[in-house]
Amino acid sequence: MDAYPHAKLTLGPAIDTGFYYDVDFSGGDTLGDDGLKDIQKAMKKLLNTWSEWSHREVTVEEARAVFAGNPYKLELIEEIAARGETITLYTCGSGKSEFTDLCRGGHTENPSAEIDADSFKLDKVAGAYWRGDEKNPMLSRIYGLAFETKADLEAYQAQLEEAKKRDHRKLGKEHDLFTFSDLVGAGLPLWTPKGTMIRHQLDNYIWQLRDKHGYQRVTIPHITKKDLYVTSGHWDKFADELFRITTREGKEYALKPMNCPHHTQIFDRHPHSYRDMPQRYAETTMVYRDEQSGELGGLTRVLSITQDDSHVFCRHSQVKEEFFKIWDIIDTFYGTFGFNLRVRLSFHEPTEMEKYLGTKEVWENAENALREIAKARNADYFEAPGEAAMYGPKLDFMAKDSLGREHQVATIQLDMNLPERFDLSCINEKGEKERIVMIHCAIMGSIERFAAVLIEHLGGNFPLWLAPEQVHIIAVADIHKPYADQVYHALKAVGIRVHMDDSNDSMGKKIRAAKQAKIPYFIVIGDKEVEAKNVTIENRSGESKQIDLHALANHVLTEVETKQMS
Ligand code: ZN
Repeated sequence: MDAYPHAKLTLGPAIDTGFYYDVDFSGGDTLGDDGLKDIQKAMKKLLNTWSEWSHREVTVEEARAVFAGNPYKLELIEEIAARGETITLYTCGSGKSEFTDLCRGGHTENPSAEIDADSFKLDKVAGAYWRGDEKNPMLSRIYGLAFETKADLEAYQAQLEEAKKRDHRKLGKEHDLFTFSDLVGAGLPLWTPKGTMIRHQLDNYIWQLRDKHGYQRVTIPHITKKDLYVTSGHWDKFADELFRITTREGKEYALKPMNCPHHTQIFDRHPHSYRDMPQRYAETTMVYRDEQSGELGGLTRVLSITQDDSHVFCRHSQVKEEFFKIWDIIDTFYGTFGFNLRVRLSFHEPTEMEKYLGTKEVWENAENALREIAKARNADYFEAPGEAAMYGPKLDFMAKDSLGREHQVATIQLDMNLPERFDLSCINEKGEKERIVMIHCAIMGSIERFAAVLIEHLGGNFPLWLAPEQVHIIAVADIHKPYADQVYHALKAVGIRVHMDDSNDSMGKKIRAAKQAKIPYFIVIGDKEVEAKNVTIENRSGESKQIDLHALANHVLTEVETKQMS
């Protein structure tokens, strides 16, 4: 702190990847370009001299005296005192290297022995309001990365570097997948033809997987009368996020923030015998949630969210089997991309039964069923009491991507609440009305968020079945065009997304462009190929093979149908 005599330290907690410290530089010091480097150098030097922390309990008066002139620490001191807690000061070093801070404790015993000076680094500075309140002064938040070893730090930095290259906002632009318009508004992505192709392929795949399990397509309007959400409870629960509409007659409507309430009304159109159960409805459709504009970014936080949503209306006795089927779909879908899944069993907190709907017995039965499923599937799972939704327990799936980052993706939720609110039932074997349950599930969750995860996971190298353009053909000269056309039509005829590059660019430029666009295959047609009536097909890694023209279409089609990762 010697170099910044007017700077005031405020709060500095540890975080997952290290720590930060919020500093007020408004006293006249400025943190120059080399500021972080200089502070880091000083930290490493100090570390050598710090061999032990000492701490002492002090009175409010003593604490005030130590931090006189620092309004932030004084504010914290008053709060600790008001809570009736003891105030502790921690000190390290002595003489010129002495440093004392207001702290609860919980440090290393011997910093110089336990911390490798190469295992931490000051990373960046960002603005932050004191205590996160924009009415308060703006401070400088200095972020530090800190790991066990130098190797861990370097691995993390390499991962950050790679993540920057794979940022879905950057790749989305380079691959021309989606765009934003000021006229349309922030948080409202517009999908280009290529991006739409990818969405379509993903969605089709999920429908293929669902078809095996008896799902039926339904379609609902994007708006509804207020009454639907008053009955479902969402009118209050989603109060801030709801886009409201008032009609010219003064009636209140809303844009749908979820689809479940609409779907209950399809189920409830007529009475159901137990023989008709379960009813499985699915729909890929957008929902709309009003988020604060400061929180919008890329595809991860948007106002228009596409859900591949499904609702299974079933009896209690059918829950286990239905969960099993959905889990099959999730495993197959995420396995296709090489994601490893971990599952959180989000259960109720037994000591806070008043937070939940339904009796303890119903909850325990439902949770036992989910636990049995997780065991039977040999899944990598853990239980999280207190993470359940108010209306029922759920399975939350976490996918680890190629950079080792974990993303929450699909969820399967058991719901005992909406059937109650909408009085949903079936007629059982005894001719009695039996209350049913609902299972909510979206495999991708939100297509926008999943697309962001997938783009970064693949680094833009979409497998053949998903690539907007699958095969790119280049004829060396005009005389090779008729044969190139033949190749083009052979692929086109079996539904391959093929493109013929007939621009006037040089061969080198054409090949470079195809490689840059990360098109899975390209084919160059020259004398050799025309004569042998075959093609040389090259993939993104530069491996090539010669194939007979008649075998080509089958070769490509097989790879598409088996959804191979390239
Ligand atoms: Zn739902």
